[in-house]
Amino acid sequence: MRIEKNKSLKPFNTFGMDVQAEKYAAVHNLDDLQEFFHQRDFSEKLFVLGGGSNILFTRDVAGTVLHLDMKGIEKTGEDEDFVYIEASAGEVWHGFVLHCIAQGWAGVENLSLIPGKVGAAPMQNIGAYGVEVKDVFHGLEAYDIREKTFRRFGLEECRFGYRESVFKRELKEKVIIVSVTFRLRKNPVINTKYGAIEQELEKHGIHAPTIRDVSQAVIGIRQSKLPDPSKIGNAGSFFKNPVVSRPAYESIRKKFPDVVGYPVGDEMKLAAGWLIEKAGFKGVNRGNYGVHDRQALVLVNYGGASGREIYQLSSEIIEAIRGKFGVELEREVNVY
Ligand code: FAD
Ligand code: NAP
Repeated sequence: MRIEKNKSLKPFNTFGMDVQAEKYAAVHNLDDLQEFFHQRDFSEKLFVLGGGSNILFTRDVAGTVLHLDMKGIEKTGEDEDFVYIEASAGEVWHGFVLHCIAQGWAGVENLSLIPGKVGAAPMQNIGAYGVEVKDVFHGLEAYDIREKTFRRFGLEECRFGYRESVFKRELKEKVIIVSVTFRLRKNPVINTKYGAIEQELEKHGIHAPTIRDVSQAVIGIRQSKLPDPSKIGNAGSFFKNPVVSRPAYESIRKKFPDVVGYPVGDEMKLAAGWLIEKAGFKGVNRGNYGVHDRQALVLVNYGGASGREIYQLSSEIIEAIRGKFGVELEREVNVY
């Protein structure tokens, strides 16, 4: 396995931050991974990189960046209702989704066009349009860095939550996800109730959508609202949607009757994009960086901004939302 020194990570993160990795190694298979760990100096730091679409680099990366690139999609089982599909960590997520749709395997169509790799999908339990990875998850295999062994995780052990999992918390930097097995339906259950999917299907005169139609509708909406990272640097939603108590929601609604919120159990999830827009940050342009003009949840690098500038802007937004609404925004993007 080739280890490169002082490698620019600019092509490997969707914010386009021009930081350097002290050392960099692309991992193409499990043998590469084991070889790396058997030769590794334990004191050396590690950073696991997938597609770099959920990370803001604010400085150079010390130690080794392991860039996961193992490929493969395989049907490992089936029963009357489901197929079980194992995908390697380095598969591009959207490519995997399109493959499933082409095979008629249902469940991931609402997650179309999410950037990044399969291996990172369980990290924050990726979600969009009413579907999360946990809804189609069967199990995963991970390499335990301390034990130098492979471990299997079932649904319960992953402790998935809203943009959360055990891998983003307790097991952060302790395990490397090498493959994920999904449980996909042979007979689709179409879910178009979320966001603008129904309007988008209506626009195309589709009344009985297939999974391909749903995927194309999601792709259409995303392309119309979200900046394409190949043109404008970004990492999608920078913040999570905050969840507040009912009384807190009611007191915000008294002052701001148009507040956008959705019930989550006994609490209310507020649309962070709405809060940021109301606080006057939508479309803010600071030259090299700013807030996207069509989606206030997305911070953007127009070119040449530093991670610290973007981080500073995110801190200003957090402070403004705290001051105006008494709500605490939490960053969704991983910051290094
Ligand atoms: P990276 O950014 O490479 O890594 C993210 C974190 O996971 C890092 O901490 C990294 O160290 C760790 N990591 C990566 N791979 C592994 C592994 N195999 N094992 C252990 N740790 C690992 N997210 C959503 O949930 N829903 C959306 O709808 C959505 N839309 C987006 C739209 C745009 C335009 C963009 C740019 C991003 C969007 N995102 C969305 C965020 C992002 O695409 C997802 O979080 C994605 O899963 C990140 O994958 P990645 O491979 O790029 O991860
Ligand atoms: P949207 O449809 O304009 O909706 C705004 C917010 O309201 C979303 O954040 C969504 O919450 C919530 N929402 C909408 N309909 C809902 C419903 N029926 N029930 C409960 N909550 C509802 O959002 P958008 O910005 O265009 O994004 C569309 C979808 O893609 C969302 O699911 C969003 O999470 C996802 N997305 C995620 C990222 C990321 O980086 N994480 C980036 C782009 C888009 P949720 O966010 O909880 O779904």
